[in-house]
Amino acid sequence: MKTCDFLVIGAGIAGASVAYELANHGRVILLERESLPGYHSTGRSAAVLTENYGNAIIRRLTVASRQFLQRAPEGFTSSPLLSPRGVLWIAREEQRDRLTAALGEARQLVPSIHAVDCPEAKRLCPVLREDYLAAAVLEPEAMDMDVHAIHQGFLKGFRQRRGELVTAAEVKRLLRTAHTWEVYTAHEQFAAGVVVNAAGAWCDEVGKLAGARPIGLIPKRRTAFIVDGPATGDLSAWPVVIDVDEQFYFKPESGRILASPADETPMPPCDVYAEDYDVALAVERIERATTLAIRHIRRKWAGLRSFVADKSPVVGMDRFLPGFFWLAGQGGYGIMTSPAMARAATGLMVEGRLPADLTAVGLRPEDLSPARYQEA
Ligand SMILES: Cc1cc2nc3c(=O)[nH]c(=O)nc-3n(C[C@H](O)[C@H](O)[C@H](O)COP(=O)(O)OP(=O)(O)OC[C@H]3O[C@@H](n4cnc5c(N)ncnc54)[C@H](O)[C@@H]3O)c2cc1C
Repeated sequence: MKTCDFLVIGAGIAGASVAYELANHGRVILLERESLPGYHSTGRSAAVLTENYGNAIIRRLTVASRQFLQRAPEGFTSSPLLSPRGVLWIAREEQRDRLTAALGEARQLVPSIHAVDCPEAKRLCPVLREDYLAAAVLEPEAMDMDVHAIHQGFLKGFRQRRGELVTAAEVKRLLRTAHTWEVYTAHEQFAAGVVVNAAGAWCDEVGKLAGARPIGLIPKRRTAFIVDGPATGDLSAWPVVIDVDEQFYFKPESGRILASPADETPMPPCDVYAEDYDVALAVERIERATTLAIRHIRRKWAGLRSFVADKSPVVGMDRFLPGFFWLAGQGGYGIMTSPAMARAATGLMVEGRLPADLTAVGLRPEDLSPARYQEA
């Protein structure tokens, strides 16, 4: 039986980032069911960092993550993790009030967000229809993320800190003994002081293996696809365009357009695929808002964004199981919040408190704790 201080289950962005941080504090083993870490949600995202997205807890975690992604530690990456993109939030006439309200809320945390008039919005994204657009708000400091580089940076740093990644290693059984957890895959056994449940959409399933009470995690399917851009003009500098009610979004992606209906269909955890209906819905909404004529879907996929009821993440020790730590419910924000989430988790595990810079932005352990879902 291999032994370690911390055993992390799941090597998506959540597991990779927390394993990276924990490896500064003890021996860490990271177990991933798939042969390729990042195969599930982490490899399927839209790769946008926006500080104007999600509830107040998410926004604080995103703001607190930005510096790491902007100035990654020496040796973490050989290329920038972030590149300027901007987000343009748009509204039709009947959505105008909601855009105004969203602007007021957003500016409290991100003062650079501002309203732009319709000609300016059209200059930024020339395919927007004049007879559709009534108002727009620009988040100029939103970024594209290089998700592969971020994920690989965490995994490489983890290995350099003498961490061990084991792939094709599905955790099938968890057993609590006097002071340790025994963890069983089909081929190996491990013993750890602390088990970290970072299994993405499967966190409640892994919790069940440990005998934990569920946190009520609901995986929700989100669809994305790639289409050609307009025949003329350079789209590389367009911002991400997002409907203020999140009915659709689109952004430039390697010379083409990545688009989504921003769907949230609840499903059991699985290797999820895109449905034609969701793609068609997005095409209809985007053609209504723009002059784009979408004829051919180049590629389509879907991934799971997993939420608990309040849509905040779940980070903390299980209320009833000593040494069983939750890092779950990353929703649609798991990449851009990963540096702060990993540090929050490590602070709570190692020192029993959040790092000072996270409390300084108003984060409290009770906002993240699984206890809010684990009634006595
Ligand atoms: C279409 C789409 C767009 C998105 N856009 C953005 C965006 O722009 N910005 C952003 O920040 N976020 C975005 N997200 C959300 C982001 O992708 C997720 O929040 C994030 O990837 C979740 O990471 P994770 O590590 O929790 O989950 P995952 O990446 O799914 O990793 C969990 C891992 O656990 C493993 N596992 C499960 N059970 C076991 C077991 N028993 N034993 C061993 N391993 C196990 C799985 O194989 C999996 O690899 C988007 C998501 C989607 C689907």
